[in-house]
Amino acid sequence: MMKKLLCFVVPLLLLAAGCATTSKGPAFASLPDAKSQVAEYYENGSYANDVTFIMRKATQYIQAVAKAKQYAKPAIVLDVDDTALDTYEYQKGMGFGHNGKLWHAWIAMKRGKAIPPVLEFAKEADRLGFAIFFVSGRREAQREDTELNLKAVGYPKWTQFFSKPNDYRAPSVVPYKTECRRKIEEQGYTIVANIGDMPSDLDGGHALECFLLPNYIYDVK
Ligand SMILES: [Mg+2]
Repeated sequence: MMKKLLCFVVPLLLLAAGCATTSKGPAFASLPDAKSQVAEYYENGSYANDVTFIMRKATQYIQAVAKAKQYAKPAIVLDVDDTALDTYEYQKGMGFGHNGKLWHAWIAMKRGKAIPPVLEFAKEADRLGFAIFFVSGRREAQREDTELNLKAVGYPKWTQFFSKPNDYRAPSVVPYKTECRRKIEEQGYTIVANIGDMPSDLDGGHALECFLLPNYIYDVK
């Protein structure tokens, strides 16, 4: 009996010792587990809830500013990818990786869906008399398809769409995006709200308030 028990207990102890060794490894999830968690966040309604919560605040804010009638030419700035348009289909299809050529092909298909709370925000801004500007990290070669996509999903008429020059090679989009907002202000507009999903959409000033949407898939500096 004792012999039998030892036969059972000893392998268990060895297994436990093995587990202890493994647990000294890195404290982060394996890549497949991390991808599953991200997919779950986007697909179980959590992402939509978070975006709705943030955009509700942004909407209340521009409504209050509109009521105060403080600015002659109020404007909002929207980023495109994962702000105005949902790229999750592409991201998931790529296993949350990236390929420049396939990305360009996906943009050309104009398959981006509107992110509903952002679309509603843009419609409300339009109704309140705000000018709408898009400041996108997409390149000039992708501008036409992107504008057609935005129009097709119902974004109200925008005043100007800024796209990154085709030869833009700087390590960060912050100088480009900041310069776009400076140009908007130069035309007499007050950027009341700037909406993006990357801190690099919002860094650099030239907006009264910024609203950052969640993005757990990629990072654009
Ligand atoms: Mg974006």
